[in-house]
Amino acid sequence: MGECVQTVIVGAGVVGLAVARALAQAGREVIVLERHGLIGSEISSRNSEVIHAGIYYDTDWLKTRLCVAGRKKLYPYLERHSVAHKKTGKLIVASDAEQLSRLSGIMERARINGVDDLRLLSAEEACEMEPHLACTGAILSPSTGIVDAHGLMLALQGDAEEAGAMVAFNAPLQEGRVGEDGIALEVGGDAPMSLLAEEVVIAAGLGAQDAAARLDGYPADEIPPIHRIKGNYFALSGKSPFEHLIYPVPVHGGLGTHATLDLSGRIKFGPDVDWDAPATLDVDPARAETFYDAVRSYWPGLPDGALAPDYAGIRPKLTTRGEPARDFVIHGPETHGVAGLVSLFGIESPGLTSSLAIADHVAHLLGYGKAQ
Ligand SMILES: Cc1cc2nc3c(=O)[nH]c(=O)nc-3n(C[C@H](O)[C@H](O)[C@H](O)COP(=O)(O)OP(=O)(O)OC[C@H]3O[C@@H](n4cnc5c(N)ncnc54)[C@H](O)[C@@H]3O)c2cc1C
Repeated sequence: MGECVQTVIVGAGVVGLAVARALAQAGREVIVLERHGLIGSEISSRNSEVIHAGIYYDTDWLKTRLCVAGRKKLYPYLERHSVAHKKTGKLIVASDAEQLSRLSGIMERARINGVDDLRLLSAEEACEMEPHLACTGAILSPSTGIVDAHGLMLALQGDAEEAGAMVAFNAPLQEGRVGEDGIALEVGGDAPMSLLAEEVVIAAGLGAQDAAARLDGYPADEIPPIHRIKGNYFALSGKSPFEHLIYPVPVHGGLGTHATLDLSGRIKFGPDVDWDAPATLDVDPARAETFYDAVRSYWPGLPDGALAPDYAGIRPKLTTRGEPARDFVIHGPETHGVAGLVSLFGIESPGLTSSLAIADHVAHLLGYGKAQ
């Protein structure tokens, strides 16, 4: 029999670390298993670092509730822990009459979702705020912002460790078995070990389906398929023409090729939705052409040659091209029937924004704390 431990979390991305913090602070003895040698080196370090308001998603989705609740928890958390962030605000811009007609629907959806601070702007008002913008109208979201994702993860790790949690690096979960007396886990890597856990949380991002499938006794039909869909970014050389984040009206599979500032004032465009690409992290310079077209729909002054390939991230999507988008899938014992186990699938955007609320939700599924 392996060493007995109360709670094992698989994955030290922003979600696993937030869950580790919540459960350690609830008094649980927590070990986080991370297959790499550092925290947050997969999805959590390759995203837009935007704190989303919670505007677009279906009202009855968990994603919506956790995004709105997560954002409200996140800003004060970042303040308290001195994590770099900025409430930049964002403009959602319409480029033609058809898109303009969709803005009021977006406003209404947001209001029902509990995002009640949006303002509809005329083209003139939007251009007064952002003189380089071309649009037929826009929505201002004042509570959208940006965050240093790595700083957030360091703060979560610090809190978790202060409450007694431990992060084991180079420690991939290899296999496990659900038994009467707990969940037995075999961990490989630098210091292979056997553990017997009362609780296991699978917060393994792109590896979540694989980790769940490695647990003997986990019902296979409760593991949703994963589609690894790439999002590419191109960076602008030179000064940013914008002070707000600029988003087009959303497209299928993503939020459109938006302009995001980082905390140093640098601007990047993306992510696009590259349905057909292999899930590698290099950015094909040939994609620049589609970026020039997309960005010029709201910034006609983008000079030729100003964009350079930057980085890419991989979305852990649960649906593929042509299929309707899906909610986060967070399964506890009542869904899959395994006592003490919570698994998280499809935690794509806005998972970073939602992380603190996701953690509270997972804690609740395990019997600690209030429902979110
Ligand atoms: C292109 C892109 C842009 C995005 N932009 C935003 C945004 O602006 N705002 C926002 O709120 N959200 C955004 N997101 C979503 C957000 O980044 C993710 O929801 C969040 O980072 C997911 O965190 P995670 O901890 O679930 O996954 P990860 O950060 O990937 O962490 C999972 C960890 O599990 C580890 N792991 C996997 N398998 C095993 C195993 N068998 N054993 C041990 N360890 C294992 C991995 O190594 C990894 O470190 C974006 C995502 C993408 C792809």
